[in-house]
Amino acid sequence: MTVPVLSVRDLKVEFVTRRATLRAIDGVSFDIAKGEVLGVVGESGAGKSVTGLAVIGLIDPPGRISGGEILLSGMRIDHLPAEEIRRVRGKRIGMIFQDPLTSLNPLYRIGDQIVETIRTHTNLSESAARKRAIDLLAEVGIPAPEKRVDGYPHEFSGGMRQRVVIALAICAEPELIIADEPTTALDVSVQAQIIALIKRLGRDHGTAVMLVTHDMGVIAETCDRVAVMYSGRIAEIGPVQDVVRNPLHPYAKGLMGAIPTLAGEDKRLVQIPGSMPRLSAIPPGCPFNPRCAFAFDRCRVERPEPLPNGAQAVACHLYDRAAEESAA
Ligand code: SF4
Repeated sequence: MTVPVLSVRDLKVEFVTRRATLRAIDGVSFDIAKGEVLGVVGESGAGKSVTGLAVIGLIDPPGRISGGEILLSGMRIDHLPAEEIRRVRGKRIGMIFQDPLTSLNPLYRIGDQIVETIRTHTNLSESAARKRAIDLLAEVGIPAPEKRVDGYPHEFSGGMRQRVVIALAICAEPELIIADEPTTALDVSVQAQIIALIKRLGRDHGTAVMLVTHDMGVIAETCDRVAVMYSGRIAEIGPVQDVVRNPLHPYAKGLMGAIPTLAGEDKRLVQIPGSMPRLSAIPPGCPFNPRCAFAFDRCRVERPEPLPNGAQAVACHLYDRAAEESAA
């Protein structure tokens, strides 16, 4: 069996405050295979960005990983010393954040930044690294890369800056890319181009991609599989076409109803009543129960675990029987 590029097992992340210990991630498990794009979607506060930060070892105190395992191509990386995880982050995991200026130093030419990253992680000479930087800029769609390589970040538009960040993220040929809301700050027309680029890079380079977004439209366009998160847990996970066309979890059904389509622009978007609970007020049982139209007594006391249901897995008591039958 092929080892997944990323394997997250029963991950738990806590934030210790003076008043209480708040659990932001509570038993999250998923794999991402080589060349696969996994979308992680949910409302703000669902824990999707915290999951991405845990994978790249950037949970700062008072936050900490309090349980579970994170494996990169079979190697545990969740308890590496800071220096080692920093090396893994630059070389084996590329990162793309919402704001390109988080990743780019405004005082340095973009070519110098890419060359420095390449030379930190490879044995290439200065001139070979510069040639590779130009090739990478061409690959991510920067016009006239031989000239633009000497430009500063402020000389690029938002979309072009995000392309530069993508070139930076792939320059050491990482096994995994974590992209956290990579298109949220961009114009709609540019968003589609960046999404197409991330998708193509995953396919051409065999890179596994974890794409964190609140936007189901982006997920539907880009991903092979999707994990729907709610209150620090996975509510549903499965192939994107199954989850989009036939969502099982009541929360996922609400999210899918909120995807606007060009064909049905007059369709009223489904609103899920209420809001995601604060970390300090997650209800017992199923965390979605106060908002769920199908909640019954068991939902208020017993936590549902994700169970297989066809190609999907769903954490909802409504599906317990179907899961038992498919396992029999
Ligand atoms: Fe709704 Fe109960 Fe399913 Fe939770 S477990 S989503 S409350 S039916």
